[in-house]
Amino acid sequence: MSDCIFCSIVNGDIPSNKVYEDDEILAFRDIAPEAPVHIVIVPKLHVANILELDESSDLGQKMLKVASRIAKDEGIAESGFRIVNNCNADGGQTVFHLHFHLLGGRNLKWPPG
Ligand code: ADP
Repeated sequence: MSDCIFCSIVNGDIPSNKVYEDDEILAFRDIAPEAPVHIVIVPKLHVANILELDESSDLGQKMLKVASRIAKDEGIAESGFRIVNNCNADGGQTVFHLHFHLLGGRNLKWPPG
């Protein structure tokens, strides 16, 4: 989708620090990390947010599996981590291309602000 920053990252027009890639999913380090490990996991297909995810699709499940795999690779599996999806205005979504944040490497507070 034109004008989508994550589509531009997926197609290589905007550089990113990739940590994982397969046919359907890309994961890269967040440009403004909120934790020592902060990785963004996106589908290559443009989906605006989790509300737009096709109910018959297993893409969300695949993205979660990728998050879990990256947590292990990044060495934060045992200490713990958080997977976050911000949806629409009150959820704090600013990039309207579905993504999960994988955060870890420090003690994360709860609840979020
Ligand atoms: P928020 O900006 O409130 O975290 P989102 O959940 O929509 O809302 O997250 C978008 C994320 O994308 C932000 O964490 C932001 O730092 C990250 N981001 C934006 N542009 C880039 C980029 N070019 N490379 C990596 N991460 C990016």
